[in-house]
Amino acid sequence: MYPGEEEAKKLICEIGRKMYERQMVAANDGNIGIKIGNKEVMVTPTGVSKGDLKPEMLIKVDLDGNILEGAHKPTSEMYMHLNIYKHNPEVISTCHAHPVFCSAFAAAGIVPDLSTAPAPIMILGKMPVVPFACPGTMELANSVIPYAKDYNGVLLANHGPLTWGKTAMGAWFALEEAENYCRSCILLKYVMKEIRPISGEQLKVLEKNIFPLNDKCKMTAPDQTTNLSEGRLLSEIEGNAVHLSDACINKLADRIIQRISKSN
Ligand SMILES: [Zn+2]
Repeated sequence: MYPGEEEAKKLICEIGRKMYERQMVAANDGNIGIKIGNKEVMVTPTGVSKGDLKPEMLIKVDLDGNILEGAHKPTSEMYMHLNIYKHNPEVISTCHAHPVFCSAFAAAGIVPDLSTAPAPIMILGKMPVVPFACPGTMELANSVIPYAKDYNGVLLANHGPLTWGKTAMGAWFALEEAENYCRSCILLKYVMKEIRPISGEQLKVLEKNIFPLNDKCKMTAPDQTTNLSEGRLLSEIEGNAVHLSDACINKLADRIIQRISKSN
């Protein structure tokens, strides 16, 4: 059921490389986890480009975040990944990155929820938007807990997607599918402004024959969909500014200073 340690390391490096090659990450963005036992997870290190990961850089941790093996410091989003494993024992892998189209939905606070093609329905389902929390905090780590059981991924508001899966590659497939889906949603809704979603009846056939999603995760059927013939213009969507606390701003400032002083 669980991949072995070496296999997990190899898979994480492979997923990291794909993330980088598909321009889903910049600088040292993104993090990946793969569960290798009931209470053990392999995670990516902090401060490393996902295109440059090497097996020896990866860190073995327990579900409470204690380091079991590895010389590097784990990703600052480790607890966010661990919370998914803790609150859904069926999950084997987790992926977080900052791909442009998913991140645009996350920043707009819009849930991409239209049944426009079978693949996102089968692989992904609905991705709710999780309220904003500062990166690297326990507030962000805990914000994903309510979604761990019922969904295959979420959009972290003003940040990016986090996906998970029941196989070692499952989370990566969900992430790749999410980005593809968000890109096509933007094209359909804001460029072509014409959407013909899969009907409620067709959705039932898909669910019955291929991939039964739980109710919360289901995409929107046409009879529940409004404004089908014309998408809203981006300029019509009113943005609400995110309020960052002083503590959050100070933490971000510290990190930027640390990063600058490391690179000098
Ligand atoms: Zn991030």
